[in-house]
Amino acid sequence: MKIALCVKQVPDTSDIKWTENNTIQREGVESIINPFDVYAAEFALKLKEELKNVEITVFTMGPNQAENMLRKLLAIGCDKAVLISDKKFAGADTYATGKTISHAIRSVLPDFDLIVCGQFAVDGDTAQTGPCIASMLDIPQVTYVKKFTYPDNTGLTLERELEDGLETVKVDFPSLVCILQDTFEPRRPLINGIKEAQKKEIRVCTMEDIGLTPEKCGLRGSPTFVSKAFRKVSKHDAQKYEIGVQESVELLKERIENAKRK
Ligand code: FAD
Repeated sequence: MKIALCVKQVPDTSDIKWTENNTIQREGVESIINPFDVYAAEFALKLKEELKNVEITVFTMGPNQAENMLRKLLAIGCDKAVLISDKKFAGADTYATGKTISHAIRSVLPDFDLIVCGQFAVDGDTAQTGPCIASMLDIPQVTYVKKFTYPDNTGLTLERELEDGLETVKVDFPSLVCILQDTFEPRRPLINGIKEAQKKEIRVCTMEDIGLTPEKCGLRGSPTFVSKAFRKVSKHDAQKYEIGVQESVELLKERIENAKRK
């Protein structure tokens, strides 16, 4: 069984800054693996433990510095890594990102069974990339996945978290899943894993390698643009109360009654 795991590097900060072109400022900011992608990786690794002959290939689209993140994923048990990197990919919106990643998967791993993504990237936060890849590859997708039950080599039974409860879904391969948060604790690399990961080759894919042309990727291949980026200002000022539980309950009741009367 062949799994393509998609991971993104994000800035290691909650204080995201914007460039004059309304894109996220990434220079001079330390990067980390997107937190949802840690769960996506754990989901893939647990499947590898449950089923026989599972091979996980990690894909990331980003600059060369993403290589460190890929080595960490190899160190915890992923088998192969692909860095999709080319200056021509700069300025890609979610459509162009989805197209680029789907082309890379089709070129490198045409016989994949499952694509595993995180549900959101904490910087862009659109949750569009996974569904975009699935629709471009014309395969079923299951989003908001919490965990798998009953895996076999033909498909998965998955639990999805919805606003009003949980849903159980069965999906056949090939398909794509977006992981919200796994019930498993993400693992840490062991020293042998780190040593092995240093020896592994990371395949770099450029625009030509995956059969794209400049008008189909990067800024030119992006049908959307960010016209304005701003931080939302809260309409309400916070007030500090130093009171006990009972008083808090009374205060809340009073506030609710006041709100009902308005
Ligand atoms: P989500 O859709 O929220 O991510 C969900 C999941 O998809 C992730 O958990 C991960 O599994 C997968 N995924 C997402 N991105 C990647 C990736 N790169 N590699 C592998 N897997 C991934 N960003 C830049 O860095 N530079 C730019 O110049 C730039 N220009 C932009 C211009 C426009 C007009 C727009 C709209 C966006 C631009 N962006 C740019 C942002 C870029 O489009 C997004 O970072 C990207 O599409 C992913 O979207 P997201 O962050 O919302 O991820």
